[in-house]
Amino acid sequence: MGRSVVARALAAIAAVVVTSTVLVGPGSAAPTRPEPAPPSVVGLAPVTVRQQVDEPEALPRRKGSVPLRRTETFRSGAIGGSTRSGASGASTLSLAPDGAASATAAATGKVALRALVVAVDESDFGLPTWKSTLDRVGAAYDVLLTRDSALTAETLVRPDGVGRYGAVLLTTSSLLYAENGGYVSGLTADEWNLLWTYERDYAVRQAVLYGSHGTWPEDYCLSGVSEGAVGATPVPTALTAAGAKVFDYLKPSAQVPVVESYVYRTAVRSDCSATPVLSAGNDTVGVLSPSADGRERLMLTFTSNQYLLQSDLLAYGLFRWASRGLFLGEQRHYLHVDVDDWFNSADHYYPDGHVESDPGYQMSGHDAYNVSLRQQALRQKYPLAGGVTLGMAYNGGDANLNAGNRCYPNGGINKLTPTTRCLANQFRWINHTLTHPELNFTDYATSRAEIADNLAVASRLGLPVDGSVLKTGEYSGLGVYNPDPDNDTDPPTDFGLTASNPELLRAARDLGVKYLHGNMSFPSHRPACFNCGTTHPLEPSVTVVPDWPTNVAYHCTTPAEETAFYNSFYGPNGKFPFWPTNLTYNQVVSAETDVALSHLSSGSLYSHTFHIANLRDYGSGRTLLTDWLDSLLGKYSAYYAVPVLSLDWPALAQRAAGRNGHFAQLAGGVDGVFDRTAGTVTLSSPTAGTLTVSGARTAAATTYGSEVSTPVTLTAGQPVTVTASPLP
Ligand SMILES: [Zn+2]
Repeated sequence: MGRSVVARALAAIAAVVVTSTVLVGPGSAAPTRPEPAPPSVVGLAPVTVRQQVDEPEALPRRKGSVPLRRTETFRSGAIGGSTRSGASGASTLSLAPDGAASATAAATGKVALRALVVAVDESDFGLPTWKSTLDRVGAAYDVLLTRDSALTAETLVRPDGVGRYGAVLLTTSSLLYAENGGYVSGLTADEWNLLWTYERDYAVRQAVLYGSHGTWPEDYCLSGVSEGAVGATPVPTALTAAGAKVFDYLKPSAQVPVVESYVYRTAVRSDCSATPVLSAGNDTVGVLSPSADGRERLMLTFTSNQYLLQSDLLAYGLFRWASRGLFLGEQRHYLHVDVDDWFNSADHYYPDGHVESDPGYQMSGHDAYNVSLRQQALRQKYPLAGGVTLGMAYNGGDANLNAGNRCYPNGGINKLTPTTRCLANQFRWINHTLTHPELNFTDYATSRAEIADNLAVASRLGLPVDGSVLKTGEYSGLGVYNPDPDNDTDPPTDFGLTASNPELLRAARDLGVKYLHGNMSFPSHRPACFNCGTTHPLEPSVTVVPDWPTNVAYHCTTPAEETAFYNSFYGPNGKFPFWPTNLTYNQVVSAETDVALSHLSSGSLYSHTFHIANLRDYGSGRTLLTDWLDSLLGKYSAYYAVPVLSLDWPALAQRAAGRNGHFAQLAGGVDGVFDRTAGTVTLSSPTAGTLTVSGARTAAATTYGSEVSTPVTLTAGQPVTVTASPLP
C-alpha cells in the first residue's frame, strides 16, 4: 500500500492568537520579560510558560495591629448577635448588617470540605493563583472580596452550626488596598476577629500566599532582613525539615526557584514561636507560625503568580496543609506521550528549510527497536517514571500484513513490521485510521472503513488496541480545517465542534468509539474544566479529550533540523518572532520541557503529541523525543518525590470524563462535611453522580505519596458517609 506523505500538521499554521492575562497589582505596572507576549499558534504548543502579568510589588505597610479578642466565641452560639462590642474584647460580635438577633447555632466539630479564599477585589494579585490551584484540584471554594463584601457570622457558619469552610486561604496577610492616598484594610477589626474566632473555634487553618514581617493585622513572629524584587534569575529556596513534611510530595532536597517576585527575606524572632518551612540561604521565606491564640498559620513571604513553577510547587501544598488533605477533587502528576503515524511516512525537514516528501522519512526496524531500549533506559534512570509507556498512534495501511514477529535491532525500513510485532507489548497502540486521510468531509462508508480496517490490521498483527479511542489524522473531522481544501499553507479555521463531520461521528459511534483525541491549541477543543473532556455537541456518546501539542516538529529527525525549524518560527527572524536570539538545540529542548513541566506540575492529565520522525536514532541511540523525555524527567525528578502516572488511553479518557462528572457535582451543589469527632466525611448532593474526594477512604480508594483519594458515587438526596483520613 503505497501511502504517500501525511501529517501536514505544520502546513496548517493558524492565526496568531495572543494570550495575555493582565493582572493589576497595587501601583505601577511595568511589563515583565520577555517581550512580546508569547505566540500561541493553532496546531503548535505555546513557546514558553511565561505570560505577562504585572510586576510584583512590595506589600503596603501599616503600623500597629488589630486587637485580638480571645474571648469571643462561636461556641455559645452568640456570634452574630445584636450588640456591637467595640474594642473591649467583649464576648459577642455584631456584624449582622440589620442588627438582627443571632440565628447562629453553637460551634460544632464539623466543617465543610470547602475553602474560603479571602482577597481584596478581583484585581488582587494572588487571586488567580489561588483559583487556578483550586480549579486544578477540582476543589469546592468560595471567594470573599473584602473590599466590597462584609464578613459576617453567617458567612462562616451554617444555621445548624456546621462550619462552612475547612480551610482559609488569604491572598495577602494584610488585605490592604490603596485609597485616598493611603492604604485601608478590606476587613474591619471586627471582621478580622470574626475570622480568627472562626478559625479558633473550628480548628481551621489559615494559609497566606504572600505576607511579610510586621504586626498588622497580626504578627507572624518575623523580623525583616532584606527585601526586593526578583526577575528571571531565580532565587533558590530550600525546604526545611518542617517544610519537607508540609510539602512531602516534593523531594526534601528540592530547590524551589523563585522568579518574577517580590521577596521578603525574614528571620524568626526569639520573643515568639514560629518554624521556618522554606529558606533562602540563611533567611526565612516561608513559615509555620501559630498565633497567640493557638491558631495554625502558614505563610510565604514572596509573590507568586499562576504561571510560575514556584506556584505549582508550593500553592497546592499550602491548600493541602490548610485543608488537612480533606477536600473535593485530587491532584496527581501524569506523563503521557503519544507518537503519531507508526507504519506511515513523514515529510522530512532539512536545516536549510527545504522539505522532502517523497519518500520523506520512514521509520526502520532499528528505530523501533531503539526506542524500546531508550524507554527502558529512561525508566531506570528516573524511577519516578518507572511506569511511563509511550503510546503509538498507528496507520496500518502501510504495515506488512505477512510479516513475522521477530525483532530486528539493526533492521531497515522493511523490518519495521516484524519488529513492531515483536515489541507489541512494549508500547500502547492507538487507532490513528488506516491511511491517515483528512476526515473533515468524508462519507460514512469511508470514515467507517478507515476506523474499522485499521483495527483489523492491529488484530492481524497482534497489536493490542482498544477500539473506544480514536485519533484522527491532524485531528480532522472535529471542526478545524482550512475552508479551501487545496490550501496547505494558510492557517486552518476553528469552526467549532458543531462543524465536525457528522458522518465520521456516526461511524465512530457505530464502531464503539467513545473518545476522540482533540488538541489544546484549538480553542474549541479546550474543555470547560481542568482535566475534563468535552461531550461532543453533535454526538453525546463521544467525548473529545485534548492532547498537548509540542514544538518538536513532526518533520524533524535531528537536532540540526529541529533547531533550524524552531528558530524559523520563534527566532528573531522567524515567522512568530519571540526570542531575542536564535536558540541552540539544548535551549530549544529546555524551553520545550519547561512548558511540559508546567503541564506535569499543574497535574495535567493530557498527553503530549510527537511523530515518528522524532523517533529516528540520529546517533548513539538518541532521538528528539527521548532527548525531550530525558530533559523533562530530569527536571521533574529534581523537584518531586511522587511518581508520574502513565495511564493507557482508555483509562486516561475515562479519567477525563470522570472529571466532567466531578465538576457537574460541584456545580450541582454537592456538599462534603468533615466530622472531626466521628472521623468521617459525609457527602450529599441534590443530583446523582460520582465525584472524587481526597482525604477519605473507601474500598475504591487509591494512594499517591501520603495522600489518599476515592471516588464516591451519590444518589440524589442520599447522604453517604465514609472514613476520613486527614493528613497531620
Ligand atoms: Zn498523524
